[in-house]
Amino acid sequence: MAAHFIRRGGAGTRRLSGHDAFPFSGRLCRAGADIGGGEKAESLLEVRYVPQAEIWRINHGWRRSSDRNGFVIDTNTSAWQRQSDDDDEPNGTTPRAVRRQVRPYVSDTRNLLLLRANAEELDEDFLRTLAYSLRRAIQLDYQIEEQEIQVELIGSERQRRIILWEAAEGGIGVWERLIKEPGAFAGLARTALDLLHFDAATGEAKPDWTERCVAACYDCLLSYANQLDHRHLDRHRVCDYLLRLARSEPVKSGGWTYDEQYVWLWERTDSASSFERSFLDHLYERKLRLPDFAQDTPVADVFLQPDFYYQRGTIPGVCVFIDGPHHASRTAEDRSAREALEDRGFRIVAIAAGRPLAEQIDTYPDVFTSVANGQ
Ligand SMILES: [Zn+2]
Repeated sequence: MAAHFIRRGGAGTRRLSGHDAFPFSGRLCRAGADIGGGEKAESLLEVRYVPQAEIWRINHGWRRSSDRNGFVIDTNTSAWQRQSDDDDEPNGTTPRAVRRQVRPYVSDTRNLLLLRANAEELDEDFLRTLAYSLRRAIQLDYQIEEQEIQVELIGSERQRRIILWEAAEGGIGVWERLIKEPGAFAGLARTALDLLHFDAATGEAKPDWTERCVAACYDCLLSYANQLDHRHLDRHRVCDYLLRLARSEPVKSGGWTYDEQYVWLWERTDSASSFERSFLDHLYERKLRLPDFAQDTPVADVFLQPDFYYQRGTIPGVCVFIDGPHHASRTAEDRSAREALEDRGFRIVAIAAGRPLAEQIDTYPDVFTSVANGQ
């Protein structure tokens, strides 16, 4: 599989629609459905995670204006002008207005999730209903507040996508969990079906709701915040699609190549710690197994974040600490937190500065195993 990420700067800022533009950078995984004996897997949902993307929201002018060419301002007075104002009625005392077209914008850095659905009828009603269904399912499954996730549609035609972003700067880590957990989207689809008053296993409509919720209600999709979209929302439009998604399997576990995993980890390293990056580069060059996570807290009640983490099936994983020169003096709390992790069954591997990396890595051949063909 070719690398699908596009590094920021490489692709530049790509304009997707009249309203939004952002630099593309991210990775891809797919949820495919296996229908009819597993002969033909169809791609149902393409998921792209874009960490720390710059989002631009550009105001191109009033919706009703024909040219959407921004707003007009008089640069002498800083007063907004009507688009139709013309200069043939100067009042004689004020200087002629110096008019300029301006487009106000705001930009922000956020973690994004871009979803491209594959369905027969990809119209606005379908996509808006799907967008709000998935957002609410994410809120329920990951226990977050409605205002913590924003959702919109972006792009046009085949490039039309659902864009979700975390309202908090720095993010709350939900997107990473979603794309790393195999089957996360199938789980979301089941939650969404239940939410939309369908049986999550069969897709049957729950009879109690047939009359109470014809298209959408405040128990499922509607909220005061999405009032402008209410006319688009119809739970029946997405039922079949969600059912197929609920029965789908990720095309590839996590959907990442070795190279993508490397880039993802590298972006997560502490930029102040060149030793962390050297460690990662070393694994990459020798095609040794890469960590599954970086800067991830394995258990909620031990407040310690290993630099890297390896999963070990169903048992607690391996916590790797990269004790670079600036970590030379580990505190007593740090040591006791490491012991607390060990007591819970985690394995602790500490890589220290000042000793050859290769030698230390070779001490743990069962953790840093060789990866055939870089996969
Ligand atoms: Zn409802």
